Amino acid sequence: MNKATLQLSPPNEPRTFGFYLDGAYVAAGDRELATRNSPGHGVPVTKTVKCTGDDVDAAVASARAAFEDRRWSGLGGAERAAVLLKTAEILRERAEEVAYWETLENGKPISQARAEVAGCVGMFEYASGLARSLHGDSFNNLGDGMFGIVTREPVGVVGVITPWNFPFLILCERVPYILASGNTMVAKPSEVTSVTTLMLAEIMTQAGLPDGVFNVVTGSGRSVGQALIDHMDVDMLSFTGSTAIGRAVVEAAGKSNFKKLGLELGGKNPQIVFADADLEDAADGVAFGIGFNTGQCCVSGSRLIVERSVADRFSQMVADKFAKVVVGDPLDEATQVGAITTDTQNDTIMGYIAKGQDEGARLVHGGEQLDFGRGQYIAPTLFADVTRDMAIAREEIFGPVLAVMPFDTVDEAIEIANDTEYGLAASVWTKNIDKALQVSRRVRAGRFWVNTTLSGGPELPIGGMKQSGWGREAGVYGVEEYTQVKSVHIEIGKRDPWIA
Ligand code: NAP
Repeated sequence: MNKATLQLSPPNEPRTFGFYLDGAYVAAGDRELATRNSPGHGVPVTKTVKCTGDDVDAAVASARAAFEDRRWSGLGGAERAAVLLKTAEILRERAEEVAYWETLENGKPISQARAEVAGCVGMFEYASGLARSLHGDSFNNLGDGMFGIVTREPVGVVGVITPWNFPFLILCERVPYILASGNTMVAKPSEVTSVTTLMLAEIMTQAGLPDGVFNVVTGSGRSVGQALIDHMDVDMLSFTGSTAIGRAVVEAAGKSNFKKLGLELGGKNPQIVFADADLEDAADGVAFGIGFNTGQCCVSGSRLIVERSVADRFSQMVADKFAKVVVGDPLDEATQVGAITTDTQNDTIMGYIAKGQDEGARLVHGGEQLDFGRGQYIAPTLFADVTRDMAIAREEIFGPVLAVMPFDTVDEAIEIANDTEYGLAASVWTKNIDKALQVSRRVRAGRFWVNTTLSGGPELPIGGMKQSGWGREAGVYGVEEYTQVKSVHIEIGKRDPWIA
């Protein structure tokens, strides 16, 4: 689809997708279909297959066969790199199509979806280099009779379960890194946002990925996701989603085959603003940090911890920014904040807004649903006078709701920032380098931003501390995460005999 000819409106009728097995789509046959309504328009846009337990078994068997016969892991890194680079090239050509369907299913603005797909192209390009440079270690210091080497091997069959907030971006923060070392995989996207995952599998086949290396099963988490996390033949599982389901994944791994796990879970991320910051810049960054993707980001900056001397002025500056944000139809190029992705999430966010008011927080901006005649939208919302015990200060809302808490000293700012079970991301805004470093060292978070927020890219790792997860994605770490290490001792010459 070409950008110039793209009709920025939902399709007249929903498009039906099969699931993806052994390098091709499998039609639904007599299986049930799930219909997805665009959250921005309230009309049906896609239909996907509700896969069965047998389908999950077939997908895992396909990935297993592809792993065991070494059709992918047995290739040289350069050959795998060539497929990843070709994927990047095709993705660049089909970017508009992927962005369109991502917007329809998720409700995010089309401009944002386009930027995300462009970022995904970079993930494939970067990981292609890692496919060639991945290496182990050697020990030439074990004496004349011994040589030691450490090799990195792919883990095997990797299951990937992704959430609905960044269906394509989160997928692409994992897939090229998983495939770089020679693993094979089965992906299970959220049932409400499945089609761009299917499109990636199709694009990778087009790019020359051997059949069976990348399979996709669609359907609900409760059935298809559960079957994948329970599966005895999945060697590793990468789960991105809520902390609650993350716990279920850990239990399932313990009860099945102790599969290796990567977990990226929830966050309640602090934005710490000192009085000496560039306040204009910080206000824009804080508004972006909670408004972007309607606050439905694991790394959304949902707690504003601001120095008391500027707290009221700064809160008003952020509220003024909120008032200017363009909320509306995700397919409109001017839109900055789109629709809330699911009905359940819409209810959850509105529930927290009501709770914030009940608990005595002061509503400074927003707090209401916006009626555009179709779809579901919530205005960026700011609460002042929030105390640390309130639900809106402690629980992940996953919506455009900012809770403001003042502080007086650097130590107090750090203490409030760390007063959460999560440890995913944090930002600090100050022109004082000593303060920035102190805070960045002492706040427990896997990602940290100084005088910016939500920056990212393929080079730097992603992941959380505390109950925000285990392991890292992206960067060199992202490839290493999906390998296992083997140590090899090699005797040089004759062994010292054990029996004389
Ligand atoms: P979720 O309910 O945990 O779902 C995440 C994925 O798990 C979906 O594919 C879901 O499938 C599947 N799932 C649900 N129940 C399952 C089960 N019993 N067994 C296996 N899989 C199951 O989370 P969400 O509501 O989609 O996403 C929001 C959460 O994800 C937030 O807490 C957010 O912080 C977190 N998140 C974290 C990161 C990160 O990188 N740290 C990134 C994005 C989101 P269905 O949707 O089809 O049911």
